[in-house]
Amino acid sequence: MKKIILINYSGYQFTTNTFIPDNSLAVLAALLSQHAFPVEVLDLHNMHDMKLIAKNFHQSSAEELYSSIQQQRPFDQHHLNRYKESIDQAETLYMESIFSKIIDKIKHEDVQYIGFKLWMGRGLTSIITLATQIKKSFPHITLIGGGPALQYMQHHFSKLCNLFDHLLYGEGEYAFLKILGISAHPFHSSHLDHFPPPLYSKEIFSNLHHFHKMRIIDDSRGCFNDCAFCSHSHLIGKNVRTRQPRRIVDQMQKMAYEEGITFFRFSGSNTPWHLVTAIGEEILSRNLKINYSIFSSLNNANAKDFPMLSHSGLRSIFFGVESGDAYLLKVIHQKSNISNAHTIKLIQAAMEAQIFACLSLIYPSPFEDSNSTQNSLQLLQQIFKHQKLGSVLVMPPFLSPGSRWWSEMAQFGFAFIDGVDQQQYILNMATKCYDYFFIEDSIANMGYTLNSKSMSTLMSECAHFIKTLTTDHGISTNLSETTYMLSQLYDLPAATFTATTTYSLLTGK
Ligand code: SF4
Repeated sequence: MKKIILINYSGYQFTTNTFIPDNSLAVLAALLSQHAFPVEVLDLHNMHDMKLIAKNFHQSSAEELYSSIQQQRPFDQHHLNRYKESIDQAETLYMESIFSKIIDKIKHEDVQYIGFKLWMGRGLTSIITLATQIKKSFPHITLIGGGPALQYMQHHFSKLCNLFDHLLYGEGEYAFLKILGISAHPFHSSHLDHFPPPLYSKEIFSNLHHFHKMRIIDDSRGCFNDCAFCSHSHLIGKNVRTRQPRRIVDQMQKMAYEEGITFFRFSGSNTPWHLVTAIGEEILSRNLKINYSIFSSLNNANAKDFPMLSHSGLRSIFFGVESGDAYLLKVIHQKSNISNAHTIKLIQAAMEAQIFACLSLIYPSPFEDSNSTQNSLQLLQQIFKHQKLGSVLVMPPFLSPGSRWWSEMAQFGFAFIDGVDQQQYILNMATKCYDYFFIEDSIANMGYTLNSKSMSTLMSECAHFIKTLTTDHGISTNLSETTYMLSQLYDLPAATFTATTTYSLLTGK
């Protein structure tokens, strides 16, 4: 059998959350191995590879930027420009080394297929360059592309390049098998329990020791909600597919016993609550000592279950709050949080059970005014009145292809700026950098206005809201549920973990 290489790279990442081996490629690798194909995953999102890139960043600028972050002062533009130039150069150098590695594998390991997981953002350009070099040097190699970028871009992807032999626009597992000539079920009939568990063997992930000892667990796909700002239902579907709780816990138990992995993050965007509680009870019945985090909507979770879930190892939960204003939630976000009283009770109950609550908020929302701002501030104040075991991630309103904000954009107050249309916007999105530390700078010119406000105005309103939360109300705004879990994994206070990783990600040291 000819060998298959699967590559995962989305550009240099300024967050340590991505250094978890890619679950979907590990599942695909397991499926391919079942059919006797030799397969290797080159997942470049690990601490070692990111350090190789970062060691070539402009070091004195990196130190200066780190000081700015620590002292909460604006970045010096000269240092910022010099630093960003060095990121581009460092990535180019790194991708050349990856190309050499692949040449070596093609020459010595009978490789026939190379699959790329394609992401939106800076890495897409690097991956297209890499794929172009491979095709030019080895025209006989079959190149297969799949992943989130194709789901967002659909046919617009052809404007970027035409070099892949196959493009997989939806779930890729069975489609990949078909390319190899193996008959498989159509994806819509795929049952999650039919997939084999992900394969993290040393033969497949030769660099496994360079990742955090945390794994993603596939629990469900799809979401029963249909929020207007989110493209999830459009991309994945409203039909929620779940795995059996017993099988999910089997997988965690096996990883705990065989690999010493005790930290997990569930992959579902809104794991149905009956599944969450069934998993918790199954873990307790086996007396496993594990830690896990989940995503849930506020109209999904039930406060009475938190003590049991905490006992079973639920350490962190992500809730989409988005706004504290009833009108904005109902008409603009088209999201059901049930009520503010429910939101407060639920999140406080999670924190009382020692579960870290990570909340998301969109600010400013379409048609946000001083009244709705006040409603959101009051809601957050009440949530964190007694306990502060949580953080609020505030993001500006993002126009996501496939969402209702996208398809009915004028109705929600969005407009493209001159020279930008849907296609151009998607192409902008595909190749822009979303650098975590420099987000304001990165997405400032994405190409739309909201209620006649430019993106930079929206960003500065968002930054002002964040500052109000942190300085006036003492509410944390920079800890995701995964970062919190990692701080627990390394047994460090979250602030220490964040400061250490920030320095390391900026400087490569
Ligand atoms: S925002 Fe969350 S709850 Fe709403 S549709 Fe998207 S995934 Fe579902």
